[in-house]
Amino acid sequence: MSSLEIIIQSIYVIAAVLFIVGLKRMSSPTTARTGIVWAGIGMLMATIATFFYPGVENFALIAIAILLGTIIAGYTAKKVEMTEMPEMIALYNGMGGGAAAAIAAVELFKDHHLPVSVTTLALIGGIIGSISFTGSLIAFGKLQGMVKGTFRFKGQHQINLLLLLGTLVLSVLVVAGFDGNATLVIMVFVIALILGIAMTIPIGGGDMAVVISLYNALTGLAVGFEGYVLQNYAMIIAGTVVGAAGTLLTQLMAKAMNKTLISVLFPFGETTQASGDAVEGEMKPIEAGDAGIMMAFAQKVIIIPGYGMAVAQAQQKVWELSQLLIDRGVDVKFAIHPVAGRMPGHMNVLLAEAGVPYELIFDEDEINQEFKSCDVALVIGANDVVNPIARTDPSSEIYGMPILDADYASNVIVVKRGQGTGFSGIENVLFFLDNTRMLYGDGQAVAADLVNSIKEL
Ligand code: NAP
Repeated sequence: MSSLEIIIQSIYVIAAVLFIVGLKRMSSPTTARTGIVWAGIGMLMATIATFFYPGVENFALIAIAILLGTIIAGYTAKKVEMTEMPEMIALYNGMGGGAAAAIAAVELFKDHHLPVSVTTLALIGGIIGSISFTGSLIAFGKLQGMVKGTFRFKGQHQINLLLLLGTLVLSVLVVAGFDGNATLVIMVFVIALILGIAMTIPIGGGDMAVVISLYNALTGLAVGFEGYVLQNYAMIIAGTVVGAAGTLLTQLMAKAMNKTLISVLFPFGETTQASGDAVEGEMKPIEAGDAGIMMAFAQKVIIIPGYGMAVAQAQQKVWELSQLLIDRGVDVKFAIHPVAGRMPGHMNVLLAEAGVPYELIFDEDEINQEFKSCDVALVIGANDVVNPIARTDPSSEIYGMPILDADYASNVIVVKRGQGTGFSGIENVLFFLDNTRMLYGDGQAVAADLVNSIKEL
């Protein structure tokens, strides 16, 4: 290795260390922003160092590609709403998988006499990256509402298994140098791309968060494999870290929904999408003034934020409301469900942004036993995560998912704009219970009305 290569590889290692430090800092809302900056500096260092690598050509093409990517990413990242973050993550994630697959393809086409270990890892990374690429695009389409419904048919999983076996058998032939031409390699990639689509279309929208996290882990793994092919330490370390972190996150999210990864990836049968008229009873409205009085004279209020709070950007007003209640001696707590909102930690980030102290924020398993002794549960923009049908209806898509037990509170106030269902599209039986009152309106406007009504007391 020349001294220039040693310097470049050392920069890659420093970049990888910066990725890891950045990731560590992202584990807390207080340090997350600087974590992104640390990781970004690492990425910049690795990118610049690559330009000096011996044998790198086509500088103009690389520069144009980087410029285009930077402009598109910068523009979309600025424009994207917080609520559309999962779609964006799915899309960028897919691009990462596609890029890893492209590296594999270039290496395999470039040189038919690669060592067996390199060919094998290039193929494994290429297959995983291709699956992640098309799978993430379908996940993006599902979240955007461009791909609607679940396409399930008999024998579907067997066909997918055959596709997977097909890529593996063809890969073995490529490694064995069976025909030495590009046809087999192309077939491996085409089947893997189809497999990504076929695997993702039967999966229900409610499970998309787990699927995106899984593809994120797979992209990391693919990048790690291709890092070995290119002998690039930064890619090996960063890919492995993303793969490991993504795998843990996938497990945690599946656990939060009380599902196994197998049941998410290989769904069987059709799920019910219960409609409003399937639920007995009626929704009973309440005015902000009455709801304000109810909370102001309560001993304990538990606030359950959900996706709607993010849409309404109501977190500041909700915290203002909480402070008024706390000043009146009310015991106020926030209950966060692990899959509330549209990305892991979504609610924690919003509440931290509004200045809610961490000691008032509780996870589902910490707070659930407290609902029985709670006077008012204020559900603001949450729906699926408080739907008691998850306990009672085995045919429901969310059956078995642990929920926040808001229905056990003496009174439940639900803030939402109208009759809209949650992410899973399932009607919520909580809204029809005797102890529930519906406070209709945009989350921010309603929270402001509640603040005013309490101030007037
Ligand atoms: P949800 O079930 O999606 O329900 C959100 C509710 O907010 C809707 O019923 C909607 O009713 C209401 N809403 C929307 N805009 C509003 C506004 N401006 N003001 C007031 N209310 C508004 O939300 P959730 O309870 O947080 O559950 C999250 C769901 O997303 C789960 O099914 C989860 O599996 C899924 N998911 C989670 C993640 C993750 O990582 N956290 C990722 C992807 C998917 P109206 O239309 O009537 O107002």
